[in-house]
Amino acid sequence: MNSTVCSKSNLKWRDYLHRARVHTYQGGNHKMSDKTIVCKDCNANFVFTQNEQDFYKEKGFENDPLRCPDCRSARKRQSRGGNFRGERTMHSAVCSECGISTTVPFEPSGDKPVYCKECYQSRR
Ligand SMILES: [Zn+2]
Ligand SMILES: [Zn+2]
Repeated sequence: MNSTVCSKSNLKWRDYLHRARVHTYQGGNHKMSDKTIVCKDCNANFVFTQNEQDFYKEKGFENDPLRCPDCRSARKRQSRGGNFRGERTMHSAVCSECGISTTVPFEPSGDKPVYCKECYQSRR
């Protein structure tokens, strides 16, 4: 039933559009439906691929992801651990006060200053 009459030139434009839509709906053509999304947290562009969209649909998610895979897994880790003491995820950052590189137990957002331990304590 899926006879391969793929001579595009013979089809009228409307027929072509129709066929394209049917293809996409059936998941037959995976090339043109990748989406580029801007991450809500870090503003990085990431690609929400057709495969991932299918996966989301299967899981029953109706919305596109708002965050890039990195931020998503970071959030997952946070919500799972809550206030985890033993294994904190440390992020490297540069102290806004003295400029040394340090590690902080949260992800530096870029618009807030980050302090190393000494500077943080001396500011209190
Ligand atoms: Zn992100
Ligand atoms: Zn410092």
